Amino acid sequence: MKKILLSTPTIHAEEQQYIQKAFETNWVAPLGPNVDEFENMVAAYAGVSSSAALSSGTAALHLSVILAGVKENDIVFVPSLTFAASVNPIRYERAVPVFIDSERDTWNMDAAALRKAFEKYPHPKAVMVVHLYGTSSNMDEIGAVCKEHNVPLIEDAAESLGTTYKGKMTGTFGDYGIYSFNGNKIITTSGGGILVAGKEKDVEKARFLASQARNPARHYQHSTIGYNYRMSNIVAGIGCGQMAHIGEHIKRKREIYKAYREAFSDIKEIEMNPLNREGVDNNWLSCMTISADSKVTPAQVMDALDAEGIETRPIWKPMHLQPVFEKYDFIQVEDEMSVSEDIFNRGLCLPSDIKNTEADMERIIRIVRKQFR
Ligand SMILES: *Cc1c(COP(=O)(O)O)cnc(C)c1O
Repeated sequence: MKKILLSTPTIHAEEQQYIQKAFETNWVAPLGPNVDEFENMVAAYAGVSSSAALSSGTAALHLSVILAGVKENDIVFVPSLTFAASVNPIRYERAVPVFIDSERDTWNMDAAALRKAFEKYPHPKAVMVVHLYGTSSNMDEIGAVCKEHNVPLIEDAAESLGTTYKGKMTGTFGDYGIYSFNGNKIITTSGGGILVAGKEKDVEKARFLASQARNPARHYQHSTIGYNYRMSNIVAGIGCGQMAHIGEHIKRKREIYKAYREAFSDIKEIEMNPLNREGVDNNWLSCMTISADSKVTPAQVMDALDAEGIETRPIWKPMHLQPVFEKYDFIQVEDEMSVSEDIFNRGLCLPSDIKNTEADMERIIRIVRKQFR
C-alpha cells in the first residue's frame, strides 16, 4: 500500500547544480555566492529591496523580536492559533505573550480581539500576526490598529510565501516579516529562514546580529550579544534551485485545495479552511472542519486515513491551551468557547503534498466521504 504524505520536499534538477558549484569552488561555509543569490531571489519575489538568509524561520522570528526592541517583561500580542515557533522567540527574550483569538473568516488574528487587548494592555512592545496555512490575515484592519497605537508589527509568514493580500506579498506589510524553508513548507532549503524588513538598515542589523555581532574592527570586538544564525552556502543552493519552481508548487497546492473543495461540496458537514477574500492564497495546507452537530469526529477521519497509510495532522493546538503557555492571558471577543479552540476541536489538515497523484487524491477523498455515509 502506497503511503500518502502531508507535505514533503519536492526537489528538482537545479538544486544539485547550485550545490555542485559550491563544492567545486570550495564555498562550503556559512555565507557565499549562493546565499547572496538566494537573498536577492527571495527579495525580488517578495517585492522588497533586500533580505537576510538565516538558519531557520524561528531564528528570523527571534531577530525580528529583538529588532522590534522587545525586552524582558514587555508584552507581545500574538495569535493563539499558531505553531509554538511563533511564541518561543518571545520567551527567548523573557517577554510576555498575550494570546489573541482568531476570526472565523480567515482563522487568523481577530482585529476585534486585538482592539480589546489594547484596552486591557495599552502598551505592548509589538504585535505579531501569523498567516496560517498560507491564508493572509486581514492586514488593513490589523495594520490600522498597530498604526493607531504606534506599535511595530511582525509578520510570521513562515507558511505563506507567495500569498498576496490586495496584490501585495504577505510578509511585506509589517516592520519585519519572516519566511521559513523547513522541509514541509512551500519551498525548502532542508532547513532555513529569511527576514525581510521595511527599513534596509534593519536587514543589515539582522545580518550583523546573526553573525555573532562582530563590530567592524580588525581585532574581535563585540558591543552587543550576537547569534550564529546565518544560512550556509550549501543550504542556500537548495533554496536557489527551489525558487525556480515556486510558481509550480503554488499552482499544484491550489489544485489540491480545489479538488478537495469540489469533492466535499455536497457534504454539508464538511467545510474547507477559509481563504482571504482580499487575497490570493498559496494553499500551503488544505484543511477541513466538521460541523459540531455531525456524528463524525476529526479523530475518526484521521484514524480511517491512517489505517490506509495516509498522513494527516490536527489543526495547531491553540497556545493558550498549552501547558508551557497556559499562564499567559488570552483575549477573545465573546465569552463562549473561543474560535481558536473550536477550530482546533473540529478541524484537521488533509494531505497536501504536491507529489500526490490524481489516484492518491481519489483514494483520500473516497475514504473521507465514506465516513459521512
Ligand atoms: C514552520 C513555522 C515556523 C518556524 O519555521 P522554522 O524554519 O521551522 O524554524 C514559524 N511559524 C510558523 C507558523 C510555522 O509554520
